[in-house]
Amino acid sequence: MKKKEIYLDNAATTPVDSAVLKKMQPYFNEKYGNASSIHKAGDLAREGMEKARQQISTFLNCLPEEIYFTSGATESDNWVIQGIFEKANEKGLKKPHIITSVFEHKAILEPISILEKKELIESTFLGVNKDGLIDAKDVLKSIKKNTVLVSVMYANSEIGSIQPIKQIGQLIKDINVKRENKIVFHTDAVQAINYLNCDVEYLNVDALSISGHKIYGPKGIGALYLKKGISITSLICGGGQEHRLRSGTENIPGIVGLGEAINLISKKKKDNNRIKRLRNKLITGIMKDIPNVQLNGSLEYRLPNNIHFSFLEIEGEGILIDLSEQNIYVSTGSACASNFLKPSHVLSAIGLSDEESHSSIRFTLGRQTNSNDIDYVLNILTKSVNRLRKISGK
Ligand code: PLP
Repeated sequence: MKKKEIYLDNAATTPVDSAVLKKMQPYFNEKYGNASSIHKAGDLAREGMEKARQQISTFLNCLPEEIYFTSGATESDNWVIQGIFEKANEKGLKKPHIITSVFEHKAILEPISILEKKELIESTFLGVNKDGLIDAKDVLKSIKKNTVLVSVMYANSEIGSIQPIKQIGQLIKDINVKRENKIVFHTDAVQAINYLNCDVEYLNVDALSISGHKIYGPKGIGALYLKKGISITSLICGGGQEHRLRSGTENIPGIVGLGEAINLISKKKKDNNRIKRLRNKLITGIMKDIPNVQLNGSLEYRLPNNIHFSFLEIEGEGILIDLSEQNIYVSTGSACASNFLKPSHVLSAIGLSDEESHSSIRFTLGRQTNSNDIDYVLNILTKSVNRLRKISGK
């Protein structure tokens, strides 16, 4: 019999929920029309797409026309950086200023670095404290006359720390009252959306990125919420889909899946307390059973499914391989960063030494995790750490 797989890497990606898959299926080979076609097959595809837009806008408490479908959050993040920068340039601002944090996802950091290297923008990278939290007052202090965009992630993908988005949004809103050139406030809500309030009015945000595959929906689909009235240039040009702002034939099965996945979040809200209890059980178990460990990031302001430990004196990668042999899947950092040998920029930002970074493991629980899984993982993990410490003579 095949050994059960225990998947504790839900921040990297999640399985598609069977209810989501069921809604998507007809759009591959029954309702397969192009949403731009004006015949009945096109109407059916368009209906599916507009229903999804409605589902997402209900969840975010915005207008349906404020939702733009993209290929994922990487595109949404790149678009907001590039598009707001270009618009400011078009308006005659020579070197617009963008504020972000040092521990954003690379989908934010890279486009900003590229613009900065070309000397097209000025940028400020806000630091975080040892708990992985930004101080809203630091945003305020960094604002300049030429600031056009502030982008701060809602919850960090590695250590799960939750940022004071509502507070930052309120500060920017207040400042904007007196500014001729309004500052756009964007948040990457990819990791937050399963667990936190993403009402854009409540959060005071102007733009927000989401991704399908982190919320039990399909890969290769995402969206950008962009408040009505905000000017942005397009990143992808062509046939003029999505109000001429994001061209390309729409990925209707993906869009329908994204809509349904968002719809399910509200229905599964109750599950979050259960996930949090399991998370706390694993944290307590690790601290009790394994000596010389360190929990990274805040415990209070943390996503309910995130655990991040340094198992001092051994390599996280060794643990990952041991666990994988036993069909337990975890991560040594964010999935996108794990190809790099350099310590994670997030862990460096919260002050971890290279050694502490390299000895760390991220466990991210999901809807499929149960209490027996936690007992089993704790048992295998304890054995692995003991074995590796013995080998390394520590
Ligand atoms: N932003 C955050 C915070 C993420 O965790 C990820 C994925 O790891 C992304 C952006 C990129 O999302 P996508 O895979 O949809 O391009």
